Amino acid sequence: MIVVMKVGATQAEIDRVMEVLKNKGLGAHLSVGAETTIVGVIGPKEQVRELGIENMPGVEKLVPVSNPFKLASRAFHPDDTTIDILGHVVGGPEPTIMAGPCSVESKEGLIEIAKAIKASGAQFLRGGAFKPRSSPYSFQGLGEEGLKYLADAREATGLAVVSEIMEPGLVDLVADYVDVLQVGARNMQNFALLKAVGRTNRPVLLKRGFANSIEEWLMSAEYIMAEGNPNVILCERGIRTFETYTRNTLDLNAIPVVRHLSHLPIMVDPSHGIGHARYVTTMARAGMAAGAHGVIVEVHTKPEEAWSDGSQTITLDEFDRLSSQVRTIHGLVREYDAEAGKR
Ligand code: PEP
Ligand code: MN
Repeated sequence: MIVVMKVGATQAEIDRVMEVLKNKGLGAHLSVGAETTIVGVIGPKEQVRELGIENMPGVEKLVPVSNPFKLASRAFHPDDTTIDILGHVVGGPEPTIMAGPCSVESKEGLIEIAKAIKASGAQFLRGGAFKPRSSPYSFQGLGEEGLKYLADAREATGLAVVSEIMEPGLVDLVADYVDVLQVGARNMQNFALLKAVGRTNRPVLLKRGFANSIEEWLMSAEYIMAEGNPNVILCERGIRTFETYTRNTLDLNAIPVVRHLSHLPIMVDPSHGIGHARYVTTMARAGMAAGAHGVIVEVHTKPEEAWSDGSQTITLDEFDRLSSQVRTIHGLVREYDAEAGKR
């Protein structure tokens, strides 16, 4: 349920509504927009209705929210969410560009990649230290050593770092080293993990599970937010279909749909989405044209020698071109949306 306050409602009127809700043990989330102030209420509709809130001073109306996700819904928070990470604003006026190897390999190699992607305009270095591999015999990641190299690369370049976390028990360790905790596709519905990252104040990059609906994905964001962490960045990374010429099917539809349903920023991962380096730049462009706030791509000095996901990894030169194209398209989309009076 949403309480829409009247234009010009006073602070005391807003405070009173919040107080009445909280006294009843209902979750009340205030969102102060440029024009309207709304209070999102979590709790049974009947219980909210019984409080007679629509008759309180300063209240315009009560509107039910039909979606099962609340904190993640645009109804609760009409303006786009922006997240400031080491000075770069995700969901802000500049596109967010995250790049790096699938797995962290060596310190020197990582720093070389970090310097190059920074020169090409990336603000974030990605790299897996704990890898969710389909086979237990495949390289599982360097673990804490890999996290240290990421922190060294941040030190050397000023880039923010992103790395995957797979178990609730490792949240404190990973959060000590990285700026953004990545929850991978395979763990999108690992509810214990979602709750654990929700109890930190680290931004979370929540990838869509390859067999999950948009609603399930937003409910996973809700899990994180319900624990008190509002800093969720969504990432579309492809879903499983019958197609075999590509690794996954990048669901471009999800981008405008999520932007409509939710205020959370959304990134696109064309590397896992299509699975072949030759198509990655095209799909990065397509994702930006569909309205993504940024891209995350796998990049390596020598993709053919990468320890994981080499076949979908692009070179530093390819990344340099991709990055500038992403900026151009992002700028165009913003212009078109502004002309149309949209976000
Ligand atoms: C990754 O980013 O390397 C990764 C494993 O991604 P996903 O969870 O989307 O498969
Ligand atoms: Mn990968």
